[in-house]
Amino acid sequence: MLSALALAILVQVPQTPSLAPGTSYDPDVPTVERVTGHPVTEAITPPEGVVAYMEALASAVPERTRLLHTATTWEGRSTVMLVIGNAERMARLDAIQADLKRLADPRGLDPAERDRLVRELPVVVAMIHGVHGNEASSSGAAMMEAYHLLAARNDERVDRIMAESLVLIDPMQNPDGRARFIFQNTIAGARWPDADPLAAEHDEPWPGGRVNHYLFDLNRDWFAQTQPETRGRVAALLDFMPHVVADLHEMGGNSTYYFPPNAIPGNTWTTEAQKELNDVFGQAMAAAFDARGFQYFNRDTYDAFFPGYGVSWPMAQGAIGATYEQASARGLVYARSDGDQLTYGDGILHHVTAALTTMDAAARNRERILRTFADFRSSAVEMGRSGTREYVLHSAHDPGMAERLARTLAENGIDVGRATEPVRVGGRTLPAQGTFIVPMDQPGYRLIRNLLDPHTPMDSAFVARQIERRANREPDQIYDVTAWSLPLLWDVELVRSERGTGAATTPVSAAPQDAGEASLPAAQVGYLLPWGTNGAAAVAEALREGIRVRSAGGGFQLGGRHFGVGTAIVRASDNGPDLARRLSAIAGRHDAEVVPVDHSYIREGTSLGSGRTRMLREPRILLVYDEPGSTNSAGWTRYVLERRYGQRTTAVRASTLGRAVLSDYDVIVFPSGNYDGVVGEGLRGRLQTWTRDGGTVVTMAESTRWAARTGLLSTTAERRGGRPEETAPKAPGTPEQPIDYLEAIAPVDEAPEQTPGAIVDVILDTDHWLAAGTDGEIGVMVEGSRIFTPITLDHGTNVGHYADVDHLVLGGIVWETAKPQLANKAYLMIEPVGRGQMVAFAEEPNYRAYAEATELLFMNAVLLGPGR
Ligand SMILES: [Zn+2]
Repeated sequence: MLSALALAILVQVPQTPSLAPGTSYDPDVPTVERVTGHPVTEAITPPEGVVAYMEALASAVPERTRLLHTATTWEGRSTVMLVIGNAERMARLDAIQADLKRLADPRGLDPAERDRLVRELPVVVAMIHGVHGNEASSSGAAMMEAYHLLAARNDERVDRIMAESLVLIDPMQNPDGRARFIFQNTIAGARWPDADPLAAEHDEPWPGGRVNHYLFDLNRDWFAQTQPETRGRVAALLDFMPHVVADLHEMGGNSTYYFPPNAIPGNTWTTEAQKELNDVFGQAMAAAFDARGFQYFNRDTYDAFFPGYGVSWPMAQGAIGATYEQASARGLVYARSDGDQLTYGDGILHHVTAALTTMDAAARNRERILRTFADFRSSAVEMGRSGTREYVLHSAHDPGMAERLARTLAENGIDVGRATEPVRVGGRTLPAQGTFIVPMDQPGYRLIRNLLDPHTPMDSAFVARQIERRANREPDQIYDVTAWSLPLLWDVELVRSERGTGAATTPVSAAPQDAGEASLPAAQVGYLLPWGTNGAAAVAEALREGIRVRSAGGGFQLGGRHFGVGTAIVRASDNGPDLARRLSAIAGRHDAEVVPVDHSYIREGTSLGSGRTRMLREPRILLVYDEPGSTNSAGWTRYVLERRYGQRTTAVRASTLGRAVLSDYDVIVFPSGNYDGVVGEGLRGRLQTWTRDGGTVVTMAESTRWAARTGLLSTTAERRGGRPEETAPKAPGTPEQPIDYLEAIAPVDEAPEQTPGAIVDVILDTDHWLAAGTDGEIGVMVEGSRIFTPITLDHGTNVGHYADVDHLVLGGIVWETAKPQLANKAYLMIEPVGRGQMVAFAEEPNYRAYAEATELLFMNAVLLGPGR
């Protein structure tokens, strides 16, 4: 039987050359066409079809496959991973997996055993596809890779791959995005597939298929694992500890094909041996592509510095990682600017060629790859035995935050211990509660350094070149952010123990601990919930369940303990007789601390019954959705509200905002974006009236710039040098002195210097309810060129501002020229308007949902803001 690829395809679409010329296939193995009803290149297979095909292969060839269900997406679709190996190996898969894990953990592994494992174990090659749902050919290729491995009869490469390896195929990492792309492509489809790049079928409306349901870029979610697709995939991979991982993407239709060696800068913790193997794979790929006359490039654009990608996270675990990028037809056929027609089938052909070449190169280098992997893991343990012996993570003000961080590390395969006794470190004694210990002598050492160190150094020659480029007003070549340190973004203290604390611990597991339902004692006055991430989540649910909650308007001492502003007060007299039972169930679900109070006489601070104490109500939130808002910003914000904090939210399309009855809502959130086009003078006036009547508007990043420019907010977005955005640049006068050349060529008016994603220190006013639950200083993600002049005291309060120049940067790169203008500028502003207020963040508080500290500030605005 012929390959499905060899079948004729639509006459309007150029023929795709054969996938593997001369191969014959076992007719008992189902083709894509037999299962889905269409040849693989003729239609873009929907997610259900991709899964159905993998299921069909697994049931047709059960002795050489195992199909794993890895996750259910937010929209209810399945993600799967097909394990393929020879029959002998698959029969003892569980034993092999156990051995793979032993090779991955050199602790207690004797050298002879290690040598045996390297000699005998298969190389595990994971091919992962379609993380961006609109990069459609990737999943088409996945089906053909699996088909070829299981059905090809006379391909000696396949024989070698089966002899030496175990192959994992994740055909579709983002089914919800793929479904969205196919739907949009289909409803805009022409009678004949239209090659015009501007044709509606190629031009995806907001939000596009790249992202998942909550509009996350899943190729930035590998270590944070906020999304179910990522959690399921990572857990499955940790069960195999693959040695080679290739992530297959698509890029712009006028490109060619990209494979490693990756662009510099690579991640600091990548080893020379890994780079050498990257080159071995690169050469094999080049030979295969040259043999078939396919164009390609490498060492450009796609770097692997950020450890949250599908290429770099596996590398930080010791694998050989690769990103493959195919020019996208973004549909069935695309007219390239060079005059060629690019088809969906071409994408499949190139990806399958790359995938089979990768598997073959892995098979040919099996032992070297396994030895490199084992060396990586054992050198990691060695590195952790000299120098700092333990990273101690601690939060006194929000133990729940430290707990969540510890669980996230466990989800990354890192060993973390929960302190069960006070921990002595750095001349201090930390209480057991909120303290976690990460031993450094473990195979995940390099990933630990990546995720927990404040700063990951970037190649210095590369950085020097970027400084030169910036001086010439050329964009930098940094592909993503330059900082991601989780303790900084979560406001969890990191204390290094040089000799080891010796403190007793119990292991932390990835799954949330079931705190159980510790029943609350009856309390005469009621209960206090200290404010913080867990307290806020519990209060959101309590309000949703109709429990009446008040919020302390200032800090106070009670029972020898300090409670901060924002502490939730749940009074017995406000609620029914079953309060203790209901509240303990909710607190248990969120692991929130509840303090029973029998006497509320306050000697120091704000009385519980003070006029500053406020009754909270479940906020009715309108999230402005759709264009012109930023896709990611809207999605991250909706996720943090609905899923992280369980807060009901109504998403209203920006174009419909004018029809909304604003009085039906308490809070309106504008995700990052410029709303000039949708908020005209009339709507702006209604917004201002609604705010004066008690509404709370929350803006962030570009929507703060918009609010400042339209007069909703009394600050200005600065131009370079500090000039307000809306004033005219100064005309040059007549020089009396010879000119300074560099000064003379500097543009008269330009945006402030760009910051390529760094973590900057923000000082908070802890007496203000907007900063409730913080300790007064946090790290925030700053990305781009937004700088806001602090709001003046007659207009409002800067609840958070950037630190001074010397203390400004906590991690990553802020160019020297940018620092003076950024220092001391506004981060979090509040401007009272009548009975309501504007709350404005200079940056994105819900960044990738891995910035827990600023997410809490955002939740303060929506939970504690209304009715102030
Ligand atoms: Zn991609």
